[in-house]
Order: sequence, then structure tokens, then C-alpha cells
Amino acid sequence: MTKTVLITGGSRGIGRATAVLFAAKGWNVALSFVGNQESADETCAMCERAGFTGNVIARKCDVRDEDSVIALFEAARDRFGAIDAVVNNAGIVARQSTLADMDIDRMKSVFDTNVLGAYLVAREAARTLRSGTAIVNVSSIAAKLGSPGEYIDYAGSKAAIDTLTIGLAKELGPKGIRVNAVRPGIIETDIHASGGRPERAHELGPNCPLGRAGDPQEVAQSIFWLISGDASYVTGSIIDVSGGR
Ligand code: NDP
Repeated sequence: MTKTVLITGGSRGIGRATAVLFAAKGWNVALSFVGNQESADETCAMCERAGFTGNVIARKCDVRDEDSVIALFEAARDRFGAIDAVVNNAGIVARQSTLADMDIDRMKSVFDTNVLGAYLVAREAARTLRSGTAIVNVSSIAAKLGSPGEYIDYAGSKAAIDTLTIGLAKELGPKGIRVNAVRPGIIETDIHASGGRPERAHELGPNCPLGRAGDPQEVAQSIFWLISGDASYVTGSIIDVSGGR
């Protein structure tokens, strides 16, 4: 039977690459966007061109909103029946700043999306998934590096994702559900423009041991592996996909 993956923030960047990869592997894809319907439609079209044998749906969902998250999971179940994997990917950065200069609205926005939002998605996954399924949370290498002078709030929000991964793997392991995370380094997506530095990937990419920024597909491949049966004995793991950064 065709398997189904639910991907939050699947309309652009890493989420989009993950949606297209799963589609190419023959999975059904339920992806969410928050405001950018055009990008979501484009991702659906890309999935359909990816040698696709499954189906794809895109639903609007703000991960900060409990009802919205519940409705996303309901829509996926209504369309496809069971959900076999959840990629907890939606996330934001705010503009580059030192901690001393950060205002509370910005910090709330980052924590509401990256922590509360991710925990709501993980909670719904914990309520929905059954034995033999898997969750991948999208953390960041910032959780290890701290992002001083740039995004120290974002780094803290991603450290919470690492903790979520470790705790939830222990809660859900006995039920046969695996929980892992990836920590991307600098990946070429729109997120850098959102953080006020559209050239960040080009500026900082060469500073890592592999000497370049990553492609969203390279993160998607790691996410796919963690969900696939090839990683059947891997849970509670957090894998750096950072070019050694
Ligand atoms: P993008 O900015 O390219 O895409 C962000 C996605 O998240 C979009 O689909 C967007 O929807 C969605 N989104 C944003 N806010 C919300 C919300 N409140 N509710 C639901 N969906 C939302 O980001 P990336 O692909 O770069 O990032 C994906 C994940 O990877 C994030 O968690 C990020 O922190 C993490 N990451 C990225 C790195 C990088 O260098 N790119 C490095 C390390 C981690 P819409 O299209 O509708 O706006």
C-alpha cells in the first residue's frame, strides 16, 4: 500500500525538497504552507512531475495554532487514511541581531513558531502515528553553535527541538515509533532573506569543511533515510547535515 508522509512547511526550501523526494519514491504527500499558496501549488506540481505514483495535497496550516495543526492531520487522514511519517520542518528566523537588541515580539515569534509550533506538530504525530512509523524533526546546527550576534533566540529554539527528539524517542520507542532529527548547516533557501541576509548562504557556505552551502535536496536525502526502513534501528539520533560546520 502507498505510504503517506506529512510535511509541515512543505511549500519551500527544505520542506519542498523533501516533498518532491518522497513523491519521487512513490509516497503520498500531505504538505502544509502558512501564507504562500502559490509556492505550495508549485511544490504540488513538482511532486506530480517527479515520476509520481502517489498523490499530493497542500493545506494551509499555521503551526502556532493548535486547531490549525489538528485540522492538518485530519485533512491528511481524510485524504489518505493512515499517516506513516511526519517531517516536523516549519521554522523561521528573525532579522540578525545581538540578544541585547532583540525585542520581545521578535523573540516570541521565533519561539512560538519553532518551539510551540514544532511541539504541537509532534504532539499530534504522537497521537496519530502507529507502530512502524517515524518522525523527523528539523533542528539546526545553530543548536550547537549558539549563533552569537545573529540569531541566539533561534539557536535556543532549535536546542528545544533536540531535546524534543531525545524525549519523544523514549516515549514513543515502546510503541514502535522512531523519532530522529536533522541539524542542517547553511542551506540555500529563502530563510536567509527572511533573516535579512539573502547572501548569507554564499558568504558563509565556504567557511565549512566541505567549502560550500548545502542544497535542500541533501537535507531531504537524510530525512528520507531516517524515515526509511534502512534506519530501522535508529531513534533518538540527531544527525548533522552541515558540511562539517
Ligand atoms: P524557508 O523559509 O525556505 O521555508 C519555510 C517554510 O515554513 C515555508 O514552507 C513556510 O510556509 C513555512 N512556515 C513558516 N512559518 C510557518 C508557520 N507559522 N506555520 C506553518 N508553516 C510555516 O525555510 P527552510 O526550508 O530554510 O527551513 C526549513 C527548516 O529548516 C526550518 O525549521 C529551519 O529552521 C531549518 N533550517 C534551515 C537552515 C537553512 O540554512 N536553510 C539551516 C538550519 C535549519 P510559506 O511558504 O507559506 O511561507
